[in-house]
Amino acid sequence: MPDHDPNCIFCKIARHEIPANVVYEDDETVAFRDLNPQAPVHILIIPVRHLASLNEASAEPALLGKLLVAAQRIAAEHGLAERGYRVVNNIGADGGQSVGHLHFHLLGGRSLGWPPG
Ligand code: 5GP
Ligand code: ZN
Repeated sequence: MPDHDPNCIFCKIARHEIPANVVYEDDETVAFRDLNPQAPVHILIIPVRHLASLNEASAEPALLGKLLVAAQRIAAEHGLAERGYRVVNNIGADGGQSVGHLHFHLLGGRSLGWPPG
């Protein structure tokens, strides 16, 4: 698999080919606000490199760790550390994944129900 998929919307965001409200960026990671927010803070954290889902990331433990640490740091920057927040990764059809590029949802700023739907 090449580093990016030309048909992938999140690859396009990572490569600045389409606009997004980016809150954090480094060589391996991009974080941007979800277009359809489900909470006052709803940010997506993605690898720059195209990985379709967690199922394709078994050889990438360091990258997965960086994504989670980025989520934690961005949560803290948005004032969520004390009250708490949620980090979600949807995988495949039953998991509700609608975009085929690995992403973690960071949700916070309200009390979140459990279990999810
Ligand atoms: P999934 O359902 O795959 O776990 O999450 C995909 C998320 O991407 C959804 O919450 C959806 O609102 C968001 N999304 C889809 N297309 C775009 C887009 O073009 N820009 C941004 N910022 N978010 C998007
Ligand atoms: Zn992609």
